Amino acid sequence: MTDKSIQELALSVGRPVEKLLEQVRDAGLPQRQAEDIITTEQQDVLVSHLKKVHGQADSGVGKITLKRKTTSTAKVASTSGKAKTINVEVRKKHTFTKPNPEQIAAEARAKADAQEQARADMIARQKAEQAARQENDGQKLSGENKANATLEAMRAAAKQETAKSPQKAEVVVKKRSTNKPIVKPVVKPTETAEQRKAREEQAAQLKAAEEAARRKAAEEAQQRTLEQMRQMASKYSNEDATKTIRVVDDSPLAAGLVGQAYEDSFAKEDREIKRGTNTNNTRSPKKGGRRGQEEQSFNQNQHKRGLKTSQANKHGFEKPVKKQVYDVEIGSTIVVADLAQKMAVKVREVIKSLMKMGELVTQNQAIDQEIAALVVEEMGHNPVLVSDTQAEDNLLEAAEEARGAQTTRPPVVTIMGHVDHGKTSLLDRIRRSKVAAGEAGGITQHIGAYHVKTDKGIITFLDTPGHAAFTAMRSRGAQATDIVVLVVAADDGVMPQTAEAIDHARAAGTPIIVAINKMDKESADPDRVLNELTTKEIVPEQWGGDVPVAKVSAHSGEGIDELLDLIQIQAELMELKASEEGAAQGVVIEARVDKGRGAVTSILVQNGTLNVGDLVLAGASYGRVRAMTDENGKRIKSAGPSIPVEILGLPEAPMAGDEVLVVNDEKKAREVADARMDRERQKRLERQSAMRLENIMASMGKKDVPVVNVVLKTDVRGTLEALHVALADLATDEVKVRIIGSGVGAITESDVTLAESSEAVLLGFNVRADNTARQKADIDGIDIRYYSVIYQLIDDVKDAMSGKLAPEHRETILGVAQVREVFRSSKFGAAAGCMVMEGTIYRNKPIRVLRDDVVVFQGELESLRRYKDDVNEVRAGIECGLAVKGYNDIKELDKIEVYDVQQIKRSL
Ligand code: GDP
Repeated sequence: MTDKSIQELALSVGRPVEKLLEQVRDAGLPQRQAEDIITTEQQDVLVSHLKKVHGQADSGVGKITLKRKTTSTAKVASTSGKAKTINVEVRKKHTFTKPNPEQIAAEARAKADAQEQARADMIARQKAEQAARQENDGQKLSGENKANATLEAMRAAAKQETAKSPQKAEVVVKKRSTNKPIVKPVVKPTETAEQRKAREEQAAQLKAAEEAARRKAAEEAQQRTLEQMRQMASKYSNEDATKTIRVVDDSPLAAGLVGQAYEDSFAKEDREIKRGTNTNNTRSPKKGGRRGQEEQSFNQNQHKRGLKTSQANKHGFEKPVKKQVYDVEIGSTIVVADLAQKMAVKVREVIKSLMKMGELVTQNQAIDQEIAALVVEEMGHNPVLVSDTQAEDNLLEAAEEARGAQTTRPPVVTIMGHVDHGKTSLLDRIRRSKVAAGEAGGITQHIGAYHVKTDKGIITFLDTPGHAAFTAMRSRGAQATDIVVLVVAADDGVMPQTAEAIDHARAAGTPIIVAINKMDKESADPDRVLNELTTKEIVPEQWGGDVPVAKVSAHSGEGIDELLDLIQIQAELMELKASEEGAAQGVVIEARVDKGRGAVTSILVQNGTLNVGDLVLAGASYGRVRAMTDENGKRIKSAGPSIPVEILGLPEAPMAGDEVLVVNDEKKAREVADARMDRERQKRLERQSAMRLENIMASMGKKDVPVVNVVLKTDVRGTLEALHVALADLATDEVKVRIIGSGVGAITESDVTLAESSEAVLLGFNVRADNTARQKADIDGIDIRYYSVIYQLIDDVKDAMSGKLAPEHRETILGVAQVREVFRSSKFGAAAGCMVMEGTIYRNKPIRVLRDDVVVFQGELESLRRYKDDVNEVRAGIECGLAVKGYNDIKELDKIEVYDVQQIKRSL
């Protein structure tokens, strides 16, 4: 207690201030106002006063509390099985309250009264039995009536008696164990002996009558219960099986709740019938727990909506025999988990159902529309097949409708070829010769494309670097290029990237025009180039084929016009058309984020006209065109078909190859952007599983003409040709093998891109992927398989084609070390000083020696050392010395690869 104002005290004890002030005054204390301070001593005085007033003597020290603490130890078994000792501390508190004399007296009286009462009860029971016997002997009043009448009479008498004896008081007897006060009426011993006797007799009669009435009521209640149970049992057995539950809400959640609540109610009532305790058919709304609440809210909902059951006694739910049927929308593919959600069922059930159809999938895998439709039907719902791109299709359709008459549009050309064959020089030459001098103030701008005006019309060139960009665009579904110009140096001939360019162009189905460059050089040998090209099935027109060839020199400018003419002729043949009217549609050529200007996006307009201020949707981002420049950096207001422009205004940089569309409704733009983002996610998931060899083979069966696309890289040309023949021989009437791309040397990023865009498997024979290729393959989820035995590669493809995959021998690369220095001695041969680049080098595992990512030797280590010590393994980042058994031709920068072969059971 502390000093406080009367008001505070009133607040803390929860009494009105006026009442407290009155009590303070009565206690003889000086405080009269609510703000007056009452000291702790005065508070004590007040408490003593109040105790006195309420009949409790200030007992002073009437209470002793004893505390005892004991500590002991106990041994318990821990989770690891060992015994553990823990300390146990037991604290006991014992409170002894000294009873005051008045209380003792009261307790004694209460005890005496209780004994009296027991005796009186006995007499009353005997009397009541006698009365019952008399009743049986022909009394006219029915038992119940008589009992009631007696009861009434006695109650009236008792009332009178109580009114006569105002001494009645209450004594609170404290029960130690529970501390709950038991209130018992006692009569103070001031009454006379006769009075007491009369009172006792009356009480005994009253009690006997109450007893008889209660017994009768209980019997009746039991009868009623039995009757209800009988009714209920017959109701359940006759329940109309076609009755459906009334679903108060169409949502799956509500349907679920109804089902659950019903099941709960059904189960509960069943249990109660068995136990015979269901005396009340209305369900208690006070049931605890989540389910209880659900039921409760369902009951309330039902009540609110006036969906009451017709029978008063009928319980609130009807059996949901017919389940809710949903219309499930399915795009071209759907992720299993999403499908389950749409049907409001557990993923595991969908997987089970797919398993029955022979499809082994995980919840994150996407399945085809047809299979999804079967699952949906099997689970009793309606499949609704929709196009993933519905929203976009609608937008495109609207844009198409708004377009006017089509006119011829300029061709879009991409220049491809081996490095150093003169792609850049040729592009520069064309640009310089055709762009009017001074128009751009020098050629500085690079927006990934430009257009030139020739006598016969405009030609647009894409100068996105490398083939990867071309394929990346294609893999995003964009066919930006109409014609590929394949540059081959007249003095060099067909090189690996030339072959690669041919593969890419073929895969895209784009016509090729060959430009034999560097014709000014003395060593130029165009016929050799043409010869080599024919081995790649590029047959020049002059040799009776269909590929136009121009002999040019980027340096002298010779043949450039001729090349441009050939492009125009090819374009005319292709009848390229577009309309200048309507909302612009195009493709992203490249995009970057500029510190000052934000996302800078190069777009090739393919149809319609793009204007400043247009709302542009590019890939998964959209925004208004704030500014637009042409390839010379000149600000322009609009751009028509086949014209490349650079725009500002998108919130983030889209990807090369993303489709661009002008939309006039921001809401629709957002809708499509969101849908694209979803699709991108789904595609990624799909690709991660689909690009694995076994899955490609497994999904082949669903295509009309199953074809296995292969990208193959080998160490030497001889193997490549041998594999070409062997794989071609594998083709049967049912399954074809198509080698989309092949070459000699390490697997590059470009191979990965090609494999990805053509859904091909990437096979390396005695070659490895370089770093960038490996990273890209990881990101895109492309499966690269390495082989060093020809028949293993062929067997794998063959087995996969026939759908039976034998246990797989898979190589895991454990570590790679790079040779930094080679020491030669006549005694030991060559020893290599190495740095471990990745993983761990093991002394006793098989190894390969790689030079430029091509396997040059296969075998084992002779020795592995750290300083002078022989060791069994060396980890990444540590130098070591090693010698390869039976191989002395080791060179600086060679890589030593340590691998392991494991047998993995195919899980198809
Ligand atoms: P890219 O790697 O294919 O883009 O090739 P570049 O355009 O960079 O050219 C590679 C090298 O070949 C450069 O040194 C050019 O100067 C040279 N080059 C390109 N075209 C010609 C040509 O027509 N004649 C001669 N003599 N050299 C050329």
